[in-house]
Amino acid sequence: MLLFTPGPTPVPEFARVAMAGETLHHRTPEFEAIFAETRALLFKLFATDEVIMLASSGTGAMEAAVTNLCHDTLLSINSGKFGERFGKIALASGLKNIEIKHEWDTPATVEEVEEALRKNPQIDAIAIQISESAGGLRHPVEEIAAAVKAINPEIMVIADGITAVGVERIDVEHIDALLAGSQKALMLPPGLSILGLSSAAIEKIGSGRGYYLNLASEIKKQSQNTTAYTAATTLIIGLRAILQRVEAEGGFGKLYCDTARRAKATRFALEALGLHSYPKVPARSMTTIDDADASEIRTLLKTDFGVNVAGGQDHLKGKIFRINQMGLIDPYEMVWVVNAVELALAKMGRRAYDGTASRVFNETYFKTMLEKAKQ
Ligand SMILES: *Cc1c(COP(=O)(O)O)cnc(C)c1O
Repeated sequence: MLLFTPGPTPVPEFARVAMAGETLHHRTPEFEAIFAETRALLFKLFATDEVIMLASSGTGAMEAAVTNLCHDTLLSINSGKFGERFGKIALASGLKNIEIKHEWDTPATVEEVEEALRKNPQIDAIAIQISESAGGLRHPVEEIAAAVKAINPEIMVIADGITAVGVERIDVEHIDALLAGSQKALMLPPGLSILGLSSAAIEKIGSGRGYYLNLASEIKKQSQNTTAYTAATTLIIGLRAILQRVEAEGGFGKLYCDTARRAKATRFALEALGLHSYPKVPARSMTTIDDADASEIRTLLKTDFGVNVAGGQDHLKGKIFRINQMGLIDPYEMVWVVNAVELALAKMGRRAYDGTASRVFNETYFKTMLEKAKQ
């Protein structure tokens, strides 16, 4: 079965092997050396002033960012399930929440964020997804972050990059907290989350809030290559393997480029079949199609062609399907996925099979490679 869900993503064999060693105690020079190497590699990936690893799923990093960086009112952007979660975290933590809400295909705009900030001067943090995984859309986070800082540099900008860090280069100039999770673009099992922090964020954190998710305790310990509580040792060993391998294979720059080409080629291939791309601005982390037959297509992909893609949640259940683009994915695998979609449509009697999907994928994906080679 080919796992093509936008999280969890497949764990490459070299990472599984790296994680198969004997258990290391976390308070030993051996593990601290691994921690230090992983931390150094994360600084390169995040390009932020501090980087913290937590033993939690991605939501743990969301909660840590909200509780430590927002002390009054959170402005959250809800264009899907994950954006909605930021608001729920704020309310559950005794904070106030103002929400900008959109349909799941619609990104936020700079203007509406500016308006919300002007109307509500008590807002001291904003939280937004870079890639909102519920409908596969890309918010204009860098532009929104710059606008927020232009209005008031004290407002903390929390950017959920759980399906963006490792997918594309993110400009962190105006971002105070950049979040990532192990089971998405970082190709690991679930259970590790990461926060990149700005120096302004560190200042606002001060002595921190909460207990387990108190970022002040973690900043203090992790800058000494250890953790406040037991580290997720196995996952950190896996993360080091992933980061080292990406670096050895041309770096994240090459991975970003490959991902962008693959995502574009996939979308073009599916659109050539007459399918419709759901989000108004698609993220590169996944290809999302809305279709009345989404459930049937998904079932056929699984039962007849061995491809597991994700469906939709809540009001989009049965109405969309999402194909993962995160991680080290060989183009031949994606050719098989788009071909399988074309075969499924043929089986359903919607369209005669003529190999269009693979042809368009290959043309789009390999054209730029040939053009580059000619130069
Ligand atoms: C997966 C995901 C999360 C975190 O979910 P967990 O299940 O807690 O790991 C947060 N934000 C986005 C955009 C995600 O895709």
